[in-house]
Amino acid sequence: MTNFRTRFAPSPTGYLHLGTARTVLHTKLLASANKGAVFYRLEDTDRARLQPEAFENLLDCLYKLNLIPDEGVCLDATEIDASDDFYKVGQKGAFGPYIQSERLEIYHQHAQKLIDKKLCYWSYLNSDERQKLQELKQGIKRPINWFLESSKNISEQELYADVQTGLEKESKPALRFKLQRDSKITCRDELLGETVFDLSLEEDPVFLKADGFPSYHLAHLIDDKLMETTHVIRAQEWYPSLPLHTQMYTDYWGQDNILKYIHLPFILGETGNKKMSKRDGNVNMSEYLEKGFLPEAIINYLAFLGWNPGTEQELFLKLEDFV
Ligand code: GLU
Repeated sequence: MTNFRTRFAPSPTGYLHLGTARTVLHTKLLASANKGAVFYRLEDTDRARLQPEAFENLLDCLYKLNLIPDEGVCLDATEIDASDDFYKVGQKGAFGPYIQSERLEIYHQHAQKLIDKKLCYWSYLNSDERQKLQELKQGIKRPINWFLESSKNISEQELYADVQTGLEKESKPALRFKLQRDSKITCRDELLGETVFDLSLEEDPVFLKADGFPSYHLAHLIDDKLMETTHVIRAQEWYPSLPLHTQMYTDYWGQDNILKYIHLPFILGETGNKKMSKRDGNVNMSEYLEKGFLPEAIINYLAFLGWNPGTEQELFLKLEDFV
Protein backbone atom coordinates (compact mmCIF):
# COMPACT_ATOMS: atom_id res chain seq x y z
CA MET A 1 0.00 0.00 0.00
CA THR A 2 1.33 3.45 -0.94
CA ASN A 3 0.37 6.76 0.69
CA PHE A 4 -2.11 7.47 -2.15
CA ARG A 5 -5.45 8.14 -0.47
CA THR A 6 -8.65 9.24 -2.05
CA ARG A 7 -12.27 9.28 -1.06
CA PHE A 8 -15.88 9.26 -2.10
CA ALA A 9 -17.87 11.75 -0.05
CA PRO A 10 -21.60 11.66 -0.82
CA SER A 11 -24.25 13.85 0.77
CA PRO A 12 -27.22 11.73 1.85
CA THR A 13 -29.79 13.65 -0.15
CA GLY A 14 -31.01 11.18 -2.76
CA TYR A 15 -30.47 8.04 -4.80
CA LEU A 16 -27.20 6.99 -6.43
CA HIS A 17 -27.05 8.78 -9.80
CA LEU A 18 -25.39 6.96 -12.70
CA GLY A 19 -22.84 9.76 -12.96
CA THR A 20 -21.95 9.43 -9.28
CA ALA A 21 -21.46 5.69 -9.69
CA ARG A 22 -19.07 6.41 -12.53
CA THR A 23 -17.14 8.85 -10.31
CA VAL A 24 -16.80 6.11 -7.68
CA LEU A 25 -15.63 3.65 -10.33
CA HIS A 26 -12.88 6.07 -11.42
CA THR A 27 -11.99 6.71 -7.79
CA LYS A 28 -11.58 2.99 -7.12
CA LEU A 29 -9.61 2.47 -10.34
CA LEU A 30 -7.23 5.33 -9.69
CA ALA A 31 -6.61 4.13 -6.15
CA SER A 32 -5.96 0.56 -7.25
CA ALA A 33 -3.66 1.70 -10.10
CA ASN A 34 -1.65 3.61 -7.47
CA LYS A 35 -1.86 0.82 -4.88
CA GLY A 36 -3.60 3.26 -2.55
CA ALA A 37 -6.75 3.33 -0.48
CA VAL A 38 -10.29 4.66 -0.92
CA PHE A 39 -12.42 5.69 2.01
CA TYR A 40 -16.07 6.69 2.05
CA ARG A 41 -17.13 9.72 4.08
CA LEU A 42 -20.69 10.73 4.77
CA GLU A 43 -21.23 14.48 4.28
CA ASP A 44 -24.46 15.03 6.18
CA THR A 45 -24.11 18.70 7.08
CA ASP A 46 -27.09 19.94 5.09
CA ARG A 47 -29.65 19.06 7.73
CA ALA A 48 -32.64 20.30 5.74
CA ARG A 49 -32.03 17.87 2.86
CA LEU A 50 -31.01 14.86 4.92
CA GLN A 51 -32.43 11.45 3.94
CA PRO A 52 -30.82 8.68 6.06
CA GLU A 53 -32.46 5.88 4.10
CA ALA A 54 -31.17 7.34 0.83
CA PHE A 55 -27.63 6.89 2.10
CA GLU A 56 -28.20 3.26 3.09
CA ASN A 57 -29.60 2.63 -0.36
CA LEU A 58 -26.65 4.37 -2.03
CA LEU A 59 -24.15 2.29 -0.08
CA ASP A 60 -26.09 -0.87 -0.81
CA CYS A 61 -25.95 -0.13 -4.57
CA LEU A 62 -22.19 0.47 -4.41
CA TYR A 63 -21.65 -2.85 -2.64
CA LYS A 64 -23.77 -4.64 -5.24
CA LEU A 65 -21.55 -3.10 -7.92
CA ASN A 66 -18.55 -4.34 -5.97
CA LEU A 67 -17.39 -0.77 -5.34
CA ILE A 68 -16.41 -1.40 -1.73
CA PRO A 69 -14.33 1.04 0.36
CA ASP A 70 -11.09 0.08 2.09
CA GLU A 71 -12.01 2.34 4.96
CA GLY A 72 -14.68 4.71 6.25
CA VAL A 73 -18.43 4.36 6.22
CA CYS A 74 -19.26 0.83 5.12
CA LEU A 75 -21.57 -2.14 5.37
CA ASP A 76 -18.91 -4.55 6.59
CA ALA A 77 -17.38 -2.91 9.67
CA THR A 78 -15.51 -5.16 12.03
CA GLU A 79 -12.81 -2.92 13.48
CA ILE A 80 -14.46 -0.01 15.22
CA ASP A 81 -18.04 1.06 15.75
CA ALA A 82 -19.81 -1.81 14.04
CA SER A 83 -23.02 0.08 13.46
CA ASP A 84 -24.49 3.53 13.49
CA ASP A 85 -28.03 3.59 14.85
CA PHE A 86 -29.19 6.51 12.79
CA TYR A 87 -27.89 5.43 9.36
CA LYS A 88 -27.64 1.68 10.00
CA VAL A 89 -24.15 1.58 8.55
CA GLY A 90 -20.73 0.82 10.02
CA GLN A 91 -17.39 2.59 10.12
CA LYS A 92 -13.89 1.12 9.87
CA GLY A 93 -10.43 2.67 9.81
CA ALA A 94 -8.15 4.87 11.88
CA PHE A 95 -9.30 8.32 10.75
CA GLY A 96 -12.88 8.30 12.00
CA PRO A 97 -15.49 9.30 12.64
CA TYR A 98 -16.25 9.31 8.92
CA ILE A 99 -19.72 10.78 9.39
CA GLN A 100 -19.48 14.57 9.46
CA SER A 101 -22.29 15.15 11.94
CA GLU A 102 -20.14 13.18 14.42
CA ARG A 103 -17.19 15.59 13.90
CA LEU A 104 -18.73 18.88 14.98
CA GLU A 105 -16.32 19.37 17.86
CA ILE A 106 -13.37 19.04 15.48
CA TYR A 107 -14.83 21.70 13.14
CA HIS A 108 -15.48 24.04 16.05
CA GLN A 109 -11.88 23.72 17.28
CA HIS A 110 -10.55 24.55 13.84
CA ALA A 111 -13.05 27.38 13.42
CA GLN A 112 -11.51 28.97 16.51
CA LYS A 113 -8.02 28.55 15.06
CA LEU A 114 -9.16 30.14 11.81
CA ILE A 115 -10.47 33.11 13.78
CA ASP A 116 -7.23 33.33 15.78
CA LYS A 117 -5.27 33.37 12.53
CA LYS A 118 -7.61 36.11 11.25
CA LEU A 119 -8.66 33.99 8.30
CA CYS A 120 -12.32 33.93 9.35
CA TYR A 121 -14.75 36.34 10.99
CA TRP A 122 -18.25 36.17 12.41
CA SER A 123 -20.99 37.73 10.35
CA TYR A 124 -24.61 38.20 11.30
CA LEU A 125 -25.65 39.57 7.97
CA ASN A 126 -25.79 38.34 4.44
CA SER A 127 -24.28 40.48 1.73
CA ASP A 128 -27.50 42.36 0.86
CA GLU A 129 -28.08 43.24 4.49
CA ARG A 130 -24.51 44.41 4.91
CA GLN A 131 -24.80 46.64 1.91
CA LYS A 132 -28.04 48.17 3.17
CA LEU A 133 -26.49 48.75 6.57
CA GLN A 134 -23.57 50.55 5.04
CA GLU A 135 -25.89 52.70 2.92
CA LEU A 136 -27.82 53.65 6.01
CA LYS A 137 -24.67 54.53 7.90
CA GLN A 138 -23.28 56.63 5.10
CA GLY A 139 -26.59 58.07 3.96
CA ILE A 140 -25.44 57.45 0.41
CA LYS A 141 -25.73 54.76 -2.17
CA ARG A 142 -22.66 52.58 -2.28
CA PRO A 143 -21.53 50.61 -5.29
CA ILE A 144 -23.16 47.24 -5.61
CA ASN A 145 -19.97 45.46 -4.67
CA TRP A 146 -19.54 47.26 -1.38
CA PHE A 147 -19.65 43.99 0.53
CA LEU A 148 -16.92 42.56 -1.64
CA GLU A 149 -14.81 45.65 -1.21
CA SER A 150 -15.29 45.87 2.52
CA SER A 151 -14.80 42.22 3.29
CA LYS A 152 -11.49 42.41 1.48
CA ASN A 153 -10.22 44.30 4.41
CA ILE A 154 -13.03 44.41 6.86
CA SER A 155 -12.53 46.97 9.62
CA GLU A 156 -13.22 46.53 13.32
CA GLN A 157 -15.89 49.19 13.03
CA GLU A 158 -17.75 47.34 10.32
CA LEU A 159 -17.50 44.08 12.19
CA TYR A 160 -18.84 45.86 15.26
CA ALA A 161 -21.77 47.22 13.26
CA ASP A 162 -22.46 43.73 12.00
CA VAL A 163 -22.39 42.23 15.48
CA GLN A 164 -24.51 45.06 16.86
CA THR A 165 -27.16 44.56 14.20
CA GLY A 166 -27.05 40.82 14.82
CA LEU A 167 -27.68 41.34 18.50
CA GLU A 168 -30.55 43.68 17.80
CA LYS A 169 -32.06 41.07 15.50
CA GLU A 170 -31.16 38.33 18.00
CA SER A 171 -29.93 36.28 15.11
CA LYS A 172 -27.07 33.81 15.13
CA PRO A 173 -23.85 34.57 13.28
CA ALA A 174 -22.23 32.58 10.50
CA LEU A 175 -18.48 32.26 10.23
CA ARG A 176 -17.10 33.57 6.94
CA PHE A 177 -13.74 33.01 5.34
CA LYS A 178 -11.94 36.17 4.32
CA LEU A 179 -11.04 35.81 0.66
CA GLN A 180 -7.94 37.50 -0.68
CA ARG A 181 -9.04 39.27 -3.79
CA ASP A 182 -6.00 41.39 -4.56
CA SER A 183 -4.37 39.00 -6.95
CA LYS A 184 -5.40 36.30 -9.35
CA ILE A 185 -4.97 32.73 -8.25
CA THR A 186 -3.53 29.89 -10.32
CA CYS A 187 -5.10 26.51 -9.67
CA ARG A 188 -4.30 23.08 -10.94
CA ASP A 189 -6.55 20.23 -11.94
CA GLU A 190 -4.81 17.00 -12.95
CA LEU A 191 -7.06 16.59 -16.01
CA LEU A 192 -7.58 20.20 -17.05
CA GLY A 193 -4.18 21.62 -16.23
CA GLU A 194 -3.66 25.11 -14.85
CA THR A 195 -6.28 27.85 -14.83
CA VAL A 196 -6.00 31.39 -13.53
CA PHE A 197 -9.06 32.48 -11.53
CA ASP A 198 -10.13 35.95 -10.51
CA LEU A 199 -11.81 36.04 -7.10
CA SER A 200 -12.50 39.76 -7.14
CA LEU A 201 -16.26 39.34 -7.53
CA GLU A 202 -16.70 36.46 -5.13
CA GLU A 203 -18.45 36.83 -1.81
CA ASP A 204 -16.71 35.65 1.37
CA PRO A 205 -17.96 32.06 1.75
CA VAL A 206 -19.69 30.76 4.85
CA PHE A 207 -17.60 28.22 6.78
CA LEU A 208 -19.79 27.58 9.81
CA LYS A 209 -23.52 27.99 9.38
CA ALA A 210 -25.75 29.59 11.98
CA ASP A 211 -26.91 26.08 13.02
CA GLY A 212 -23.33 25.22 14.04
CA PHE A 213 -22.80 22.80 11.16
CA PRO A 214 -19.86 23.36 8.81
CA SER A 215 -20.32 24.24 5.17
CA TYR A 216 -18.85 21.91 2.57
CA HIS A 217 -15.80 24.21 2.33
CA LEU A 218 -14.84 24.04 6.00
CA ALA A 219 -15.49 20.30 6.17
CA HIS A 220 -13.30 19.78 3.10
CA LEU A 221 -10.53 21.95 4.60
CA ILE A 222 -10.46 19.95 7.82
CA ASP A 223 -11.41 16.41 6.88
CA ASP A 224 -9.27 15.94 3.81
CA LYS A 225 -6.23 17.13 5.74
CA LEU A 226 -6.90 15.11 8.89
CA MET A 227 -7.84 12.01 6.91
CA GLU A 228 -4.62 12.34 4.88
CA THR A 229 -6.32 12.52 1.49
CA THR A 230 -3.82 12.96 -1.34
CA HIS A 231 -6.25 13.10 -4.30
CA VAL A 232 -9.74 14.60 -4.51
CA ILE A 233 -11.74 13.06 -7.33
CA ARG A 234 -15.09 14.77 -7.58
CA ALA A 235 -17.78 15.93 -9.98
CA GLN A 236 -17.17 18.86 -12.29
CA GLU A 237 -19.78 20.96 -10.50
CA TRP A 238 -17.12 21.57 -7.81
CA TYR A 239 -14.64 23.05 -10.28
CA PRO A 240 -15.72 26.68 -9.59
CA SER A 241 -14.79 26.11 -5.93
CA LEU A 242 -11.22 25.20 -6.83
CA PRO A 243 -9.76 28.72 -6.33
CA LEU A 244 -11.36 29.01 -2.88
CA HIS A 245 -10.15 25.54 -1.93
CA THR A 246 -6.65 26.27 -3.18
CA GLN A 247 -6.57 29.52 -1.26
CA MET A 248 -7.97 28.17 1.99
CA TYR A 249 -5.59 25.20 1.97
CA THR A 250 -2.63 27.51 1.35
CA ASP A 251 -3.71 30.01 4.02
CA TYR A 252 -4.52 27.48 6.72
CA TRP A 253 -2.30 24.46 6.11
CA GLY A 254 0.48 25.99 4.02
CA GLN A 255 1.52 25.93 0.39
CA ASP A 256 2.92 22.38 0.53
CA ASN A 257 -0.42 20.94 1.57
CA ILE A 258 -2.43 21.57 -1.59
CA LEU A 259 -4.26 18.43 -2.64
CA LYS A 260 -4.31 17.03 -6.14
CA TYR A 261 -7.73 17.64 -7.67
CA ILE A 262 -9.39 15.73 -10.48
CA HIS A 263 -12.78 17.03 -11.62
CA LEU A 264 -14.65 14.47 -13.66
CA PRO A 265 -16.91 15.66 -16.46
CA PHE A 266 -20.65 14.98 -16.33
CA ILE A 267 -22.40 12.23 -18.23
CA LEU A 268 -24.38 14.38 -20.65
CA GLY A 269 -28.03 14.04 -21.59
CA GLU A 270 -29.34 13.44 -25.09
CA THR A 271 -29.01 17.06 -26.15
CA GLY A 272 -25.33 16.94 -25.27
CA ASN A 273 -25.28 20.29 -23.52
CA LYS A 274 -26.22 19.43 -19.96
CA LYS A 275 -25.90 16.81 -17.26
CA MET A 276 -27.96 13.66 -17.87
CA SER A 277 -31.12 13.89 -15.81
CA LYS A 278 -34.44 12.10 -15.28
CA ARG A 279 -35.72 13.73 -18.47
CA ASP A 280 -33.17 11.80 -20.53
CA GLY A 281 -34.08 8.45 -18.99
CA ASN A 282 -33.54 6.60 -15.79
CA VAL A 283 -30.55 7.84 -13.81
CA ASN A 284 -31.30 6.04 -10.54
CA MET A 285 -28.87 3.17 -10.10
CA SER A 286 -31.03 1.15 -7.72
CA GLU A 287 -33.74 0.85 -10.36
CA TYR A 288 -31.30 -0.75 -12.81
CA LEU A 289 -30.22 -3.24 -10.16
CA GLU A 290 -33.84 -3.98 -9.21
CA LYS A 291 -34.73 -4.60 -12.86
CA GLY A 292 -32.02 -7.25 -12.99
CA PHE A 293 -29.23 -5.51 -14.90
CA LEU A 294 -26.06 -7.38 -13.98
CA PRO A 295 -23.60 -5.38 -11.86
CA GLU A 296 -20.78 -6.41 -14.24
CA ALA A 297 -22.74 -5.07 -17.22
CA ILE A 298 -23.31 -1.77 -15.43
CA ILE A 299 -19.60 -1.45 -14.62
CA ASN A 300 -18.76 -2.16 -18.25
CA TYR A 301 -21.25 0.45 -19.46
CA LEU A 302 -20.04 3.11 -17.01
CA ALA A 303 -16.40 2.46 -17.86
CA PHE A 304 -16.94 3.19 -21.54
CA LEU A 305 -18.68 6.50 -20.93
CA GLY A 306 -15.87 8.90 -21.67
CA TRP A 307 -13.04 6.36 -21.90
CA ASN A 308 -11.75 3.54 -24.06
CA PRO A 309 -8.76 1.28 -23.59
CA GLY A 310 -7.30 1.98 -27.04
CA THR A 311 -7.50 -1.74 -27.84
CA GLU A 312 -10.20 -4.10 -29.10
CA GLN A 313 -11.03 -5.25 -25.59
CA GLU A 314 -14.70 -4.60 -24.92
CA LEU A 315 -15.35 -6.38 -21.65
CA PHE A 316 -14.30 -4.72 -18.41
CA LEU A 317 -16.51 -6.36 -15.84
CA LYS A 318 -14.52 -6.26 -12.63
CA LEU A 319 -11.92 -3.86 -11.24
CA GLU A 320 -9.18 -6.43 -11.94
CA ASP A 321 -10.01 -6.31 -15.67
CA PHE A 322 -8.74 -2.74 -15.86
CA VAL A 323 -5.27 -3.50 -14.54
N1 GLU B 1 -20.65 16.01 -0.59
C1 GLU B 1 -20.16 16.49 -1.84
C2 GLU B 1 -21.11 16.06 -2.94
O1 GLU B 1 -21.87 15.12 -2.71
C3 GLU B 1 -18.78 15.91 -2.06
C4 GLU B 1 -17.95 16.49 -3.10
C5 GLU B 1 -16.53 15.95 -2.94
O2 GLU B 1 -16.26 14.84 -3.38
O3 GLU B 1 -15.70 16.63 -2.36
O4 GLU B 1 -21.13 16.64 -3.99
